[in-house]
Amino acid sequence: MATNSVRAYFLAAFDGIYTTFRGMQITLKYLNILRERPITLQYPDVKPDIQPGYRGKHVYVKELCIACRMCERACPVSCIGIDIEGKGKNAIVHSYKVDYAKCLFCNLCSEACPVDCLWLSQEYDLSQYVRAACAMEMIDPANANLRIPEKAKVAKPPKPPKPAVAPKPKVEEEQGLEGKL
Ligand code: SF4
Ligand code: SF4
Repeated sequence: MATNSVRAYFLAAFDGIYTTFRGMQITLKYLNILRERPITLQYPDVKPDIQPGYRGKHVYVKELCIACRMCERACPVSCIGIDIEGKGKNAIVHSYKVDYAKCLFCNLCSEACPVDCLWLSQEYDLSQYVRAACAMEMIDPANANLRIPEKAKVAKPPKPPKPAVAPKPKVEEEQGLEGKL
């Protein structure tokens, strides 16, 4: 009995020392003592690598826009505000604002645009000091010659196959024949 309790005592002591050592090993890694690559970035001096598919600030090309308001209607949180004068081909867009205090970055507005003049870029730094400044004007003359990049295009899902036409049930025909007989 005494041997077993001594053995259990030393096993527990060893387990305690081992788990403490493992914990410290992980902690020291984050302190860069073991020459591991640091996981923190000295932002804003060092910018993070943005992953493909990231959805950030909108790019809007006024020169392509047909003022159809499809994007505005598609937005689930009504954070797009377009100021349009006139109708149809004579419509002029005076202002195109997106409120980033509400935007979900869902991309529905871009998908709804029939002329690909709106898409989400990889610009992530949208912080502002006051809430009102989050509603940003998207009209930028520098965008005049921009076109939607390949990666921003949303592949349209293939059309579902037409359901096969079911053959007419023969029951009616048979019933009709029975009636005649
Ligand atoms: S990304 Fe979504 S939430 Fe943001 S403006 Fe477009 S539709 Fe609205
Ligand atoms: S859906 Fe496209 S074309 Fe229509 S108003 Fe919006 S940005 Fe302009």
